[in-house]
Amino acid sequence: MNQGAEKKEQVAAWTADTKVVSKHAMELKQLDNGVIIPPSGWKCQKCDKTDNLWLNLTDGSILCGRRNWDGTGGNNHAVNHYNATGYPLAVKLGTITADLEAADVYSYDEDASVIDPLLARHLQHFGIDFSSLQKTEMTTAERELDQNTNFDWNRIQESGQEVEPLFGPGYTGLVNLGNSCYLAATMQVMFSTRGFCQRYYSNQSLKEAFGTAPADPTVDLNMQLTKLAHGLLSGKYSIPATKKDDAGDAAQTTLTAKQEGIPPRMFKSVIAAKHPEFSTMRQQDALEFFLHLIDQVERINIGSPTFDPSRSFKFGIEERLQCPSGKVAYNRRHDYILSLNIPLHKATNKNELEDFRKLKAEKDARG
Ligand SMILES: [Zn+2]
Repeated sequence: MNQGAEKKEQVAAWTADTKVVSKHAMELKQLDNGVIIPPSGWKCQKCDKTDNLWLNLTDGSILCGRRNWDGTGGNNHAVNHYNATGYPLAVKLGTITADLEAADVYSYDEDASVIDPLLARHLQHFGIDFSSLQKTEMTTAERELDQNTNFDWNRIQESGQEVEPLFGPGYTGLVNLGNSCYLAATMQVMFSTRGFCQRYYSNQSLKEAFGTAPADPTVDLNMQLTKLAHGLLSGKYSIPATKKDDAGDAAQTTLTAKQEGIPPRMFKSVIAAKHPEFSTMRQQDALEFFLHLIDQVERINIGSPTFDPSRSFKFGIEERLQCPSGKVAYNRRHDYILSLNIPLHKATNKNELEDFRKLKAEKDARG
C-alpha cells in the first residue's frame, strides 16, 4: 500500500463512524446578498489570516478558524460569527475539490464535521465551481490524525528529562497507529510478564503457531499474539533507525538514536474484530482493553487451561461486610483488576499539575 492510500484509509477509519448528514443541510437558507467568492486569494474579513479559513454557507462570509490551546490556529472569527448570527454551516476553504465528499463541512450548531448533500448547490450560490478548485488545506479529520500520530509529548510532559535510548530484546517500541497508545501500553505490560512471554515466545515458535493456525493465519489470535511476542522480545526489530541523507540516497545513511518500532496492525485488527469500540481509531481506555484481551486470551486457551497466560492475572477477592448490628457477611469473587487509590496530596509535582489544570481550564473556557 502506498503512503497516500494508507493515509486515506486511516482518515476514512478515523471519520467513518462520526460523519452524519447535518440537520441544517437540506433546509439551509442562503442570503441573496450578491456575494461572489473568487477561486483563490482568500483572507479573513476580520484579520490578516490567509489559511484555516471557513466560508459560511448562509452569507458567504470568509473568516478564520479556531485558536488552538497552544496559541496556534486562527483567531476564532468564524465561530464568533456563528455565535452572533446563528448561521450554522461553514466549509473549510482549501478542502473543496472535485471530490466534494472529502470537503470539510462543519456544523457549529451540531458541533461536528458533517455531510452536506447539497454542497454543490450551496457553493454555486456564491459563484464557486467546485470542480476547478485545488486542495491546499488539511481537513479537520486529517489534522486530528496528524496531531495524534505526530504528537509531541514533550509539550505536555510535566518535567522533561534526557532519556537514554535502549536497544535489544524486550526494548522494542510499538508504532502508534493513531490513538492506539492504550493498546501499545497494555501489550508492553503483558509481554513483560512471565506468563505471556513463555506462552507466546519461549514456548512457541512462529513456525509452530503457523502450523496450528486455521486456514487464514492473519485472523488467528494465537498466531498474531505469537508474532507480536517475537517482534517485541526477539530484539530483531530493536535497532537504531537509519536516516537517509538529504538527497534521499539509501546508500548514504546514518544511524539515529531512535528506533522505528513495529506497527501492530494485524494484531489490532484481530483483537478488535467486531468490537464496537476497539475497531475504531478513537481513543480508548487501557483498562477496558486489558479486560477484553484477557477475555479473548482465555477463550483461545480453553482447551489447555494450564498454558493459559491470563491465569497469572486472576485472583480471588473476599469482601467482608459488617452491619452496625454486628452481623457479618462475606463476598467471594474472581477478578483481574485491583483498584488502588492514589494519595494525590502526597504528590511532589503539585505546582506543575496546578499549572496544567489552569491551562486546561483556559482551553475549555475558550471551547
Ligand atoms: Zn480572522
